[in-house]
Amino acid sequence: MTLTSPSSRVDNIRHSLVGLRMPRALEMLDATLRRIEQGQIDGVEALDELLTEELSLRENRRIRAALRMARLPVVKTLAGFDFAFQPSLDRNRIMALAGLDFIARAEVIHLLGPPGTGKSHLATALAVEAVRAGKLVYFVALADLVAQLAKAEREGTLRERIRFLCRASLLVVDEIGYLPVTPGGGNLFFQLVNARYEKGAMILTSNRGFAEWGDIFGSPVVATALLDRLLHHAIVIQIEGSSYRMREHAALLPENVHANSPINSAAPKRRGRPPTKHPIGQKHA
Ligand code: ADP
Ligand code: MG
Repeated sequence: MTLTSPSSRVDNIRHSLVGLRMPRALEMLDATLRRIEQGQIDGVEALDELLTEELSLRENRRIRAALRMARLPVVKTLAGFDFAFQPSLDRNRIMALAGLDFIARAEVIHLLGPPGTGKSHLATALAVEAVRAGKLVYFVALADLVAQLAKAEREGTLRERIRFLCRASLLVVDEIGYLPVTPGGGNLFFQLVNARYEKGAMILTSNRGFAEWGDIFGSPVVATALLDRLLHHAIVIQIEGSSYRMREHAALLPENVHANSPINSAAPKRRGRPPTKHPIGQKHA
């Protein structure tokens, strides 16, 4: 039987931690052993600390990489959202969405409201929750998305691009309606929406009502086809408030800017089928 000295045991542990690629545990090892010697913690506590620290380092790295892949323009959180500033918004409803069941159900969340009311913040915060939960997320502004699709079409790689955009279990399309889409863009967006329909969840943000989608997409036919898919399994959340960006200057603004009139989210009339009601703030099954 060979006797192993404590110092060679520690060398062994060090060697194993290097082999297992556990840099945090390696870094903590000496200090942890000293605390055991001094009777501050026992062996079980030491093991627990080393492994917990290593795991949280890995988890943070995974989240950082996934956030980069998701292309979030900034990181925003639900904790950083001041619900008191936006009383038209039901905090419980938003927190329920953070449970992410809508992703498993491949639903579409519409966040509607005037500029500065927190639509992108909430979309980003829900995307961050999804990333934390290990979901593949992709965030893009509509104008950039259409530009990506148009480029892919020109290069003969549209199918691949759409397949790539279908891999994310949550696709966030921000800023629908700020700019009219380029000619043909509505059609390209429709192809993507159709490919994801009932397969992958989406969050859409818009400062315009559904009735205006014909103008945004340059065609009432394309707008109706889009809304047909995007309102089928949908959650519509309307924010009726003033801009958080301009909160400190509200007194200087004309009445019609800070007391925003609500967006009319009625969909344009469909032909061929009886009209379906999509009352605001309700879930459409
Ligand atoms: P929108 O997309 O509706 O135009 P944003 O989500 O981009 O508005 O919000 C504008 C800025 O104000 C962002 O920096 C956002 O984080 C912040 N913001 C908006 N609403 C709130 C809020 N209720 N609490 C905290 N920050 C907010
Ligand atoms: Mg925005």
